[in-house]
Amino acid sequence: MIYLKTEEEIELLRENNLLVSKTIAEVGRHIKPGVTTKQLDKIADDFIRSHGATPAFLGYQGYPASITVSVNEQVVHGIPSDNIVIKEGDIVSVDVGTFMKGFVGDSAYTFAVGEVADDVRQLLEVTKEALYRGTAQAKVGNRVGDISAAVQDYAESFGYGVVRELEGHGLGRRMHEEPGVPNYGLRGRGPLLKEGMVICIEPMITMGSRAIVFERDGWTVRTRDRKPAAHYEFAVAIRKDGPDVLTDFSIIENSLG
Ligand code: MG
Ligand code: MG
Repeated sequence: MIYLKTEEEIELLRENNLLVSKTIAEVGRHIKPGVTTKQLDKIADDFIRSHGATPAFLGYQGYPASITVSVNEQVVHGIPSDNIVIKEGDIVSVDVGTFMKGFVGDSAYTFAVGEVADDVRQLLEVTKEALYRGTAQAKVGNRVGDISAAVQDYAESFGYGVVRELEGHGLGRRMHEEPGVPNYGLRGRGPLLKEGMVICIEPMITMGSRAIVFERDGWTVRTRDRKPAAHYEFAVAIRKDGPDVLTDFSIIENSLG
C-alpha cells in the first residue's frame, strides 16, 4: 500500500529531513583522520536528541547504533566501531534517520577525507549526479522505472556497478514504505508516481563489480572485490510541478567550507 501524504505531513517529513541534513553536516565537520566511527555515532546521537528527535535507526530490526557509517569498500549499513579509525584518503558514507512528530527522516551523504585519489573523487561525483538525474524524474505522471533507469544509465556509462540487492523506498510514518525504488530498471515501468507520494532515492554505486557481500555482523554490506562504493540519498515529495527535495545537501556542503 502506498500512502499519499497531506501538505501537513509533507512538512513534518521536511522537518525531519532538514534535521537529518543538519546531523549529517555535524558529523561531516568531525570526519578527520584519527576519529573513530563510534565517535561519529555519539556526535550524531547527541545532536539528534538535542533537537527533540530520536535516532530512527537505533533498534530498527535490532540495529545496534544511531547512524550507519560505511568506509571505502563498505557500501551501506556499516556499524560504528571503536576499531574503525578514519584516515586521509578515505571515503565515508554517513546515513542518518530521525523520528520526530510521528514521521521519519532518512538521507545519506558520502564524504571525502582530505585528498582522495582522482578515480575515487570521480566515483563520488558520478554517484551524486546519478542521484540528481534520478530525482529529476520524480514527478507526477512518471513511473518509478523512470527514476531507476536515469540512475542506472548514468552510473553505468562510467563503467560503474549499480548495487541491486538494496533500493530506495517510500518514506512516512515508517522508514520503509512502498514503493521500492530500485537503482536499476526500465523507463515507463513500475508504480505510477502520484501527488503526495514521498520516496527516498538512494543510489549505491561501486567502482568495480556490483557484487556485494553481507558481513557476518549481520549488517555491514561491502563490495566483494573490496573496491570503493558511494551512497547518496534524498527524500523527495512528488509534486505536479516537479520534485520537492526534502533533504538539503547545501547545509552539508556549506559546512565543509
Ligand atoms: Mg538512509
Ligand atoms: Mg533509505
